[in-house]
Parts: sequence; C-alpha cells; structure tokens
Amino acid sequence: MAQISYFQTSRNGDGLSYEGFSYRKDRLSVRGTQLWRCIRQGCPGRVETGDLPNPIARGRGHEHLPNPDESSIRTSLTRLRDRAVAGNISIPQIYEEEANTLVSSQAASATLPVFRNVASTLYRARRRVLSPLPQTREDIVIPPSL
Ligand SMILES: [Zn+2]
Repeated sequence: MAQISYFQTSRNGDGLSYEGFSYRKDRLSVRGTQLWRCIRQGCPGRVETGDLPNPIARGRGHEHLPNPDESSIRTSLTRLRDRAVAGNISIPQIYEEEANTLVSSQAASATLPVFRNVASTLYRARRRVLSPLPQTREDIVIPPSL
C-alpha cells in the first residue's frame, strides 16, 4: 500500500493519498520541497514530497488510523469528475464503471457515495466545460470590436 495517488479536494485543491492517509497541499518547505498536511482538521500528520520516490513522514504523526478505503474513494471520485468533464459518455455510465472498478480493486469494502449524492457535482462539472447556448438575447454579448 506504499503507493501515492493524487486526487482533487472538494475545494479543487491538490490532494495526495499515501499509506492510507489523505493530505492536502500545504506550503513549500525552505528547501523547496512540497509539504502536505493531513486532510483531517487538526491532525498534525504531515508528509513531504521531493526528489524521493515516496513521501517522507514529518511531524508528530497522525492522531487516527489510516483509512485506505477513504483514499481509494477519493481517487475514484476524482477520476469520476475528470471523466465527467472530459468525455461524452453518460454520467450514470461513468459512475457505474468507476463503482465496479472500485469493487474489483483491493479495497473491497470501499464503496462510492450513492449516485444521487455525487450526480449534481458531476453534472455541474460537465456543464462548466460545455459552453452553454445563450438562453435569451441579453445573454448574447457582442464584443465592442464588432
Ligand atoms: Zn491525520
């Protein structure tokens, strides 16, 4: 389980999963390496990523046990969102594929949140990238250069 994966936090920040813990991007260290702080509010768990193949633990360590299922779910949800934005496959279909991938992965007890809890986020993510057709004449803005 010494594998790094990246995910997007709920605020569109960078997240990192490592050894069952989830981190969000923190500041750069004085040496220019990247620091990450545990995603749990108030937990002092930190890792540092640099030129090394694996992150190095820093600080006092975590105040809770690792949760590899949570990490797998975060990675799955990020992939879901990326696919919702990228593709023209229907969102329920993408969801089903990711849910199946998660079930067949080693994290057998990990399950995605139910579809209706993630659907609106996915549809919103997709809508944002598709340039919407104007709904009214007021929506049509003619550039001043014309
Ligand atoms: Zn922690």
